[in-house]
Amino acid sequence: MLPHVPTLLLMTILVCVLMALSMVTVGWGARHEGLHLWAAGLGINALAYGLFVLRPSVGEPISIVLGNAMTSLALSCLLAAVLRFQGRTPHWALLVLPAAVLAGAMLALLDDFHQRVLAASAVLGLQSALIMRALQWGRRSTVGRGALLLMAGMGLLLLVMLVRGLDGLTGLVNRQGFLQDGAMQTLTFVATLAVALVASMGFVFMTKERADEANRVLAALDALTGVANRRSIVAALDRDAGRAIRARTPLAVMMIDLDHFKRINDSHGHLAGDAVLRSLVRVLGDRLRSQDLVGRYGGEEFLVVLPETTLSGARRLANELCQAVEAHAFVHAGQPIPLTVSIGVFGGLLEPGDHWDLLIHAADSALYAAKRAGRNRVEQVAVLPRTGPHGAGPETFPASLS
Ligand code: GH3
Ligand code: MG
Ligand code: MG
Repeated sequence: MLPHVPTLLLMTILVCVLMALSMVTVGWGARHEGLHLWAAGLGINALAYGLFVLRPSVGEPISIVLGNAMTSLALSCLLAAVLRFQGRTPHWALLVLPAAVLAGAMLALLDDFHQRVLAASAVLGLQSALIMRALQWGRRSTVGRGALLLMAGMGLLLLVMLVRGLDGLTGLVNRQGFLQDGAMQTLTFVATLAVALVASMGFVFMTKERADEANRVLAALDALTGVANRRSIVAALDRDAGRAIRARTPLAVMMIDLDHFKRINDSHGHLAGDAVLRSLVRVLGDRLRSQDLVGRYGGEEFLVVLPETTLSGARRLANELCQAVEAHAFVHAGQPIPLTVSIGVFGGLLEPGDHWDLLIHAADSALYAAKRAGRNRVEQVAVLPRTGPHGAGPETFPASLS
């Protein structure tokens, strides 16, 4: 038994309206995601299907010309939503063009059902292909499973349009009118109902995946300086220590502590102290290699992880950093703020079982030696304190970082 075509159309209208309302509710205030454009697409599609169902009352010309043009406009809105999601600005003329072409074709072919099926399939099929192309183009921003779902939905629509287009050419299956029950019409509307559901879910998942990713990045960064926070720098150290053991390559770490930082806060205020911390991170970042990672270990202590670096290499870099900080003109509210740092360095080959906390312990003891020796200097430790109590500490690492 085949479902009744007008019933299928009504179900599609209901699905589109409910989805559009849900998207407007959830996406309120998040215009950059394109949710409002997608919701507009679903709303216009619902109106178009309304015109199809009401064909006996509104008359064929309005139902056919306006209904088809609005279906095309709905797909343009979906394309605009995808482009908007990718940060691109769709040109409105290009979005309206397919609807205008389809309206013209429908007007010219009012008396020829098969030619109309062919024209509508060609335009709508092309539009679904364009949405798939846009998803491909912006791969970097649309890579997750949500995008796959949307791609699948648009692929299904393209397939339906190809089958309908072929049928429009040959007239083999669909011998009746638009609202008549029959295999081709039923297949079309079951499929478009599925497309509305799958593609919309895909788009919503895309926005959710993006929000999750933004949260993940935020959770890994220090809010004040923008470098890795304690949890992610320790996770990076843990990961790099494991790699260095397996590859038998040296690994170095630096613990950098600002000298007499409390005095800066006391004499210039905490906002000046904050600004100094931010500038310091830039001074450090300018001199580190791309594989080196700097993170804020504590209040005014920074940990730098230097993969494949020997102790002498790390010491040389630490001296350069020390001199660069001393030479840098830190200024806040027009006031110069002289600043120096002390750096403790550990570097060398690791052995199986050497955990990240051992390396921090070593760099820390070198740092305290630098402080005791007068500050604004570098001290080093070449051997890990393996005899003391140690073991992987209580840190918990985000799965993606460990
Ligand atoms: P030392 O040379 O021995 O390291 O002296 P110090 O004054 O730098 O060290 P101390 O541990 O006595 O003080 C550290 C100061 O760092 C105290 C704290 O208020 C300040 N601090 C920690 N985090 C922040 C921050 O986020 N912003 C600001 N402005 N100050 C901070
Ligand atoms: Mg300190
Ligand atoms: Mg300090």
